[in-house]
Amino acid sequence: MTDNPYAPPKVDVDTGISASVDPADSRMPPPVLATVVIFAVIILLELIFTLATSGRGIFQIGVSALILLGLIRGHALAWQWGRVIPVFIAVVVTAGLVVEEGGRSPFLLGVAAIPIALFLSLPILLSYRSSRVWFGLKCPQCSEVRARGASFLFNKRRCRACDHIWSHQPKR
Ligand SMILES: [Zn+2]
Repeated sequence: MTDNPYAPPKVDVDTGISASVDPADSRMPPPVLATVVIFAVIILLELIFTLATSGRGIFQIGVSALILLGLIRGHALAWQWGRVIPVFIAVVVTAGLVVEEGGRSPFLLGVAAIPIALFLSLPILLSYRSSRVWFGLKCPQCSEVRARGASFLFNKRRCRACDHIWSHQPKR
């Protein structure tokens, strides 16, 4: 329903006065909003961590910023990364702290423990049905929300239930 490539740009989405935009499609669902807020907090904490360790973690900030942008735009690639990368980073950071920093700096351990806890809530939030709909994972044929990428950048999706393939563009 939103896949018409000839539709005019959705410049009026942010004004909230357009009647032609489906509100269920344009309004960010609460789990995604929570994910965006948590990601913003994580980036802030990563910034503190980077400043406190003179440069370590700068790569994580870049990755997190890219994912945050994708989450706001409703890009399925960000949805996928937002589910996988938090768990990966949490494991790596935890292992790194245990091996290198073990109890050396309670401040750093505290700063790192908060994002780890936040990270682990993200895959849960992104698994909600409303989150999956926001990221365009709802099959236009059978309405099942379990889809996987059928192209490298996730612009095409394949329904896990009926194998229907469709293309989807980010919201803006
Ligand atoms: Zn389907």
